[in-house]
Order: sequence, then structure tokens, then C-alpha cells
Amino acid sequence: MTTSTLTSLHHFIGGDASTAGDRTSPVYNPATGVQTGQVPLADAATLTTAVDAAETAAPAWRSTGMAKRANIMFNLRQIITARRGELAAIITAEHGKVLDDADGEITRGLENVEFCAGLVHHMKGETLEQASTGVDVTQLRQPVGVVACITPFNFPAMVPLWMVTTAIAAGNTVILKPSEKVPSAALWLAEAFREAGLPDGVLNVVNGDKDTVDRILDEPRIKAVSFVGSTPIARHIYTTAAAAGKRVQALGGAKNHMVVMPDADLDAAADAAVSAGYGAAGERCMAVSVVVAVGDIADELVAKVSSRMADLTVADGATAGADMGPVITAEAKDRIEGYVAGAAGEGATVVVDGRAGHGTDLPEQGFFTGPTLLDHVRPGMRVYDEEIFGPVLSVVRVETYDEAVELINNCRFANGTAIFTRDGRAARSFTFDIEVGMVGVNVPIPVPIGAFSFGGWKDSLFGDTHMYGPESFNFYTRRKVVTERWPLPSESQITMGFPTN
Ligand code: NAD
Repeated sequence: MTTSTLTSLHHFIGGDASTAGDRTSPVYNPATGVQTGQVPLADAATLTTAVDAAETAAPAWRSTGMAKRANIMFNLRQIITARRGELAAIITAEHGKVLDDADGEITRGLENVEFCAGLVHHMKGETLEQASTGVDVTQLRQPVGVVACITPFNFPAMVPLWMVTTAIAAGNTVILKPSEKVPSAALWLAEAFREAGLPDGVLNVVNGDKDTVDRILDEPRIKAVSFVGSTPIARHIYTTAAAAGKRVQALGGAKNHMVVMPDADLDAAADAAVSAGYGAAGERCMAVSVVVAVGDIADELVAKVSSRMADLTVADGATAGADMGPVITAEAKDRIEGYVAGAAGEGATVVVDGRAGHGTDLPEQGFFTGPTLLDHVRPGMRVYDEEIFGPVLSVVRVETYDEAVELINNCRFANGTAIFTRDGRAARSFTFDIEVGMVGVNVPIPVPIGAFSFGGWKDSLFGDTHMYGPESFNFYTRRKVVTERWPLPSESQITMGFPTN
């Protein structure tokens, strides 16, 4: 394909489209393997221009009334809702996930817009009258300033909405750096924000790769960084940004275990394992990647899962009836299939090999790999120890509940986990014992609703605050405490002691 037939993508800076940058990166449709677009990668001057725009817009934006900000959130909700089909098609064309799933990510992103429409509640401070005689104390929430949001490929709309919506609601101005693999949804959202009434310069989309991220970390005018991506990069972002004195939250990778107790409804558990293991081709940070079969149910559970897998339709996500689309790139396909190729040699049993026959009539160049099921997996195997981030589900067999808990608590990732059981006491013990940030009881993908906050523990999150919801308003605001007193002139005196009651 010649470059003239490619969609030319751009940055969105100060309300204007710009193609500045010294390099470009290809954008593919993963279902066809064909390059569909070309995105400019910001150079140092482009990032400077974007930060200038954000800095210029900041004073007016932080002075904008809360009612007007809330109104923009209501407008944004209306625009996204009315045109969600358009956005879902963009997500599917660049990411590959099936259209229903793309629509689901829009719904979950909208939850944060809805939460932010109530920003008057989230931005309210606290007042204590008569803290001392004639003294009142008020805590205010003020924006941090210019903030950067760096997002991964796997949720092209939802993760940007997790971050930028709250940052903007709280009065900050934003540099959004989406994944260079899926830039179009972020650009679509920036236009939607503008249509909703957001002034130019408040939200700027700067496309780029590693180099742009490193420039963001070096830019002293950027005061806070929100990141979602893989663990090694999250750790790098956290340490570098914190050393530069920035506020930082960096969410990393995952290995999510689903425990199936002997008393569980095995059909429901198998349905959940297939949905949560292979939905979005396993490219979700909350995907189930390990099923922990407790007691003597493993053979029956593996049979139920594998029989369901036979019914999955792997196809272009834009086609009706597709259950699972391609993975993001040819490199990702090779990496995932490399894990599957090595699994038997490590001692796992390959029950279903996704490399073999994953559908007919698929475009030859598409980045497809079918669902894989591995049994008898154990810690120490690469397929267990590393995040595969693809449609590969491993079964670990344990004898007891205690072994299941120990397995999970020894894992360095701790994003999400779930237990399937009919025993309320086991479920209660699990939620108490397990060292993981988000827990499901008979819920395989326990992504908290917008009124809570999202985040894992251990190597799945670096920093103190979780994302979206109430914690997000803490991240994007600085608290300022005002102590005031209005004495009569006759009450004034010199007091050299430390102020007390
Ligand atoms: P990634 O870490 O490769 O990229 C994330 C972002 O970092 C992108 O914007 C990318 O341009 C940038 N980046 C890439 N390499 C970099 C480098 N060396 N230095 C600086 N910046 C760099 O992640 P991805 O492949 O886009 O997304 C998948 C990963 O994200 C998985 O590990 C998944 O578990 C994780 N994820 C986590 C969550 C969560 O909430 N914990 C949510 C979604 C995805």
C-alpha cells in the first residue's frame, strides 16, 4: 500500500491538528494485517508546543465554574452515546476486538464521564467552623496543573476516559499520549470533548512512542503522570517520574487467577473461564489467565472448558458472530505462539493448541492466533511466571483452598482474582486472605464500577492511588488548608509561643 492511501493521523494541540514530528509509525488493521494509517511521532518541539498550549489554557480552565465543567461532562456523555457505533468501529479497526466488546469498553468509559458529571460532590472541600475560638478551617481541592496521561493499546477509549475525564473535571489541563498502535480513538475523543464545549488547549493529544514518553518524564512543567501499560514500563515511569518530583500512578501487567472450589457450579465456572480467558483475545489486564482447580474437579472442568472452546468463532471483529478477533500485532502473535510452543517442553499438557486451525476464511496476513488451553501448569514455568497477554488459559491443579491462596499470594502480579464457590464462608475467607487489589466472588472480571476506583497491588501498580472514581480526584487535586480568623483590632497582640488553642 502506498502512503497516499493511508489515513494520515495527527496530533491535536491547542485545538488544531498537527502532523509535526520527525518520525512516523504504522497503524494496522490486525484482522487483515494491512497497514491502514500512519501516525506522526512527536519530537521535542512538538511536545513543547503541546505543553505550551496546556499551560496557556490552565489559568482560565481552573477558574471555570464547576457547573460549566459538569455541563461539559453531560454534553460529552450525550455525544459519545449518540455516536458510540462510530467509536466502536474505530476501536475494532485498530485493536481487533469484536464490535460488542468495543461497545462494552465504551460503556465502561462512560461510567467515568457520568461519575465526573457529579464533580461538584467530588471537588467539595471540608470546613470546620470554630476549630479554635473565632477560627475556621477550610480544606480546598485545587488542580495539580498540567498532567500527562499515557495509555496502552488494549483499551483505546476506556483507559483515556479513566484518566483525562477526571483530570479535566478537577481543573487540570492534559497531555494525552495514546498507544501509537491505536491512536484514532483518542483523537475521536478529543474532538468529542471539543464539541462538548471544552476550550482549546485543555486536552491535547500528542502521539508518540518511548521517546515521547521519556520527554514527558523530563518536562518540568508536567506535574503529574498517569500511566497504564506493562509492568517493566510502569516501573520505569514510576521511578523516573517520582525522582523528577512528579506525582505518579503507574498501573502495570497482570496474571489473574480464578479459583474454582470443589462445590462450585462447574458449568457456570467453565462459562466464566472461557469468557474471561478468551474475550478480547486475552488482551485485557483483567483477563483470567490461570484457572486454579481445587480438589478433584480438574478433569471435569478442563473437559467443560475445552468443549466450549470448540464453539468459539475466531474472525475479524467487525463481522457478525465473531467471538474473538486477532491479537494486536504480528510480533504479539509470534510472542504468544512462542509461549504455546514451549509449554509442553516445560511439562504442561497442551489440551487445545490455538496455533492449529483457528478458523477458516481468515485473511492470511491477519494477526490471528486461536484460543489455547494448557493443563498441569505450575509456578516456575514461563507460561505461568510471565504475562502472556493473549488467548492462553492455564490450569493449575491444587489439593486445597489453602494451596490456592498460597499460589496466588506468591505471584508477583496482583491485579484481579476471583473465586467460584457456593460456600459463603470460603468466599468470605478468600476476600479476607487474598493479596490482590480487585476480587470477584462468582464474578470473573471484577472491574469496579465507576463510583469505586481501579487498581491492583504489588507489580500491578506502582504508586499510591488507584485510577478513576474517588481516588482519581485525590490524584488530580492538591489539598490546601486555609485557617482564618477575623479578630477585632482590640484583640490583636504579639504572641511568641507556637499557636495553640
Ligand atoms: P506498553 O507498556 O508496551 O505501552 C504502554 C504505553 O507506554 C504506550 O503508550 C507506549 O507507547 C509506551 N511505551 C512503550 N514502551 C515504552 C518504553 N520503553 N518507555 C516508555 N514508554 C513506553 O503496554 P501495551 O502493550 O500498550 O499494553 C498492554 C499492557 O498493559 C499489558 O501488560 C497489560 O496488562 C497492561 N494493562 C494494564 C492495565 C491495568 O489497569 N493494570 C490496564 C490495561 C493494560
